[in-house]
Amino acid sequence: MITVDEALELVREQTHVLPAERAPIVDAVGLVLGEDVTSQTNCPPFDKAQMDGYAVASNGKESVRSVIGTAAAGDVPRQVVTADTAVRIMTGAPIPQGADAVVAFEQVEQIDEQQIRLDTSVICPGSHVLPLGACLRKGQVALSIGTPLGAAQIGLVAESGHQHVAAIPRPGIAILATGNELVPLGTPIESSQIRNTNGPMLAAAATVAGAVSDDRGIAPDQRDDLCEMIASTLSYDVVALCGGVSRGDFDLVPEVLAELGVTQVFHRVALRPGKPLWFGIYERPASGKTLVFGLPGNPVSSYVCFELFVRPALAQLAGRSFQGLPRGVGRLATDYEPSGRREAFLPARIDRQGHVDLLPWRGSADLTALGQADVLANLPGGGRSVPAGTEIQCLRMPVA
Ligand code: AMP
Ligand code: MG
Repeated sequence: MITVDEALELVREQTHVLPAERAPIVDAVGLVLGEDVTSQTNCPPFDKAQMDGYAVASNGKESVRSVIGTAAAGDVPRQVVTADTAVRIMTGAPIPQGADAVVAFEQVEQIDEQQIRLDTSVICPGSHVLPLGACLRKGQVALSIGTPLGAAQIGLVAESGHQHVAAIPRPGIAILATGNELVPLGTPIESSQIRNTNGPMLAAAATVAGAVSDDRGIAPDQRDDLCEMIASTLSYDVVALCGGVSRGDFDLVPEVLAELGVTQVFHRVALRPGKPLWFGIYERPASGKTLVFGLPGNPVSSYVCFELFVRPALAQLAGRSFQGLPRGVGRLATDYEPSGRREAFLPARIDRQGHVDLLPWRGSADLTALGQADVLANLPGGGRSVPAGTEIQCLRMPVA
């Protein structure tokens, strides 16, 4: 059986980056830029006042200047400032011809309506003036391809004059639960039935991971129906099936996937919980490739496999690095006695001091422990016990 790291490498190797698409800039927040953004304008587009005050010529020797007009933001000042004149100017207004500095109101003595007195020794050329193109030149690259677009970057794209931007879209992921025993939300459970918890859980995990999820419901453990329902998901960037990948008589997913032309990359990983994980790829007839994950049916296994393997693939498809949950370190609060040789990711809570408490759980069907956890404690494979106090890696389970 391959290790978690080997399996991750195989997923990484098969994961591409989606082609960029043009989008209105406000819809592109959270996406990664698919091309360089070049500014269509100089920023600022004119020499701009940075202060409310008087626009003056800094080389004027006269300390008394006559006020020849007012310039507000949005005005085009027509006055020409000379050595002994000044224009009252507001922040954001273009600097009038002849002026090269702004003196703040606070630094000016108002003699009367028409005259001001300045301390000429403190006026420097360019003071409180933001020259044309000082922040960004027309034709300059404002943001490079690969930059994640947060609010500040959207602002810069807007300032560069663009209404649309080429960005890598959020990957689309289809989620399909399999199992005759499953019932959807809103339907009472009869004896022998199990609630489909994985559908909503995986859809939520996909949303938190930045993908667009489509919960395709429940497929029965019946070859033809399963085949038809899986086939209808293969146009998505990613498919997350759950259940039907173990060794049971009705675990039909791997053979149905083979029938549909999905090529297996690996099946089974030395991981607890999550050993039955299946992964393969589907080359779509028109173009593009679908990553297909057959997640184990037990909810904790399904969740762990999603966060370990599907999440980094979604990140890479979206133009980010192939990265899973954020990792931190903590110290085990109690001894860990492994129940086998597989590397484990177990529901745990970490406190402010970094003590990691493994939560009591009844195995991979126990969603209660997972729901109360805030980290997955990563415990090494190999079957060795780990004493309390040992430093271990923890994967933070994100809530948003
Ligand atoms: P399987 O992997 O199909 O053998 O399923 C393993 C266990 O997980 C069984 O007890 C299933 O009933 C349960 N299970 C499978 N799919 C789901 C699901 N979508 N939601 C909750 N439990 C599930
Ligand atoms: Mg099943």
